[in-house]
Amino acid sequence: MYIGLGSNLDGPSGQIQRALMELVVLPRTRLLAHSHLYKSRPLGPQNQPDYINAVAMLATGLAPLELLHSLWKLEEGHGRWRMRERRWGARSLDLDILVYGDIRLQLPELTLPHPGVHLRSFVLYPLAELAPALVIPGHGPVQTLRDRCHTPPIERYEEAVNE
Ligand code: ATP
Ligand code: CA
Ligand code: CA
Repeated sequence: MYIGLGSNLDGPSGQIQRALMELVVLPRTRLLAHSHLYKSRPLGPQNQPDYINAVAMLATGLAPLELLHSLWKLEEGHGRWRMRERRWGARSLDLDILVYGDIRLQLPELTLPHPGVHLRSFVLYPLAELAPALVIPGHGPVQTLRDRCHTPPIERYEEAVNE
């Protein structure tokens, strides 16, 4: 399954690199691969810094909701407090479950695939780097979605993330 990572506060690239290391130590979870870092303009309010984004590919024994709750704890560990936020405002770490196998789910807390995954260049570019042939359930192959995507193309942020 695939996690989208984003940050635009408090040293965004460091936040993402730290989060990647923290994903490795989630119970019953292995980090199989991650994309390079990318830079994107924020969704919603424009008076906030650019985002750094990446995507991680995991194998996990955690069920979808267990995984979501683990991701919330990681976000909190990065000083993110949901209660105080405006929608799509600046944040130190955002972790979304993009795709979890072929599961399609609509719960109050969790929609799978993530409702934005097939539309957002800052998700589709890093995801296409890892898994161009991956089919997003209900939407089609990542590479096709990326090529069709209407949001602006995004740039790589730096050469490489240390493995
Ligand atoms: P967006 O979801 O449009 O990317 P966001 O990431 O800024 O916006 P948050 O404030 O981080 O939104 O999360 C809002 C809620 O989305 C969370 O409380 C969570 O319950 C819910 N949610 C639904 N589907 C998912 C998913 N696939 N991954 C992560 N959170 C999800
Ligand atoms: Ca998000
Ligand atoms: Ca989120």
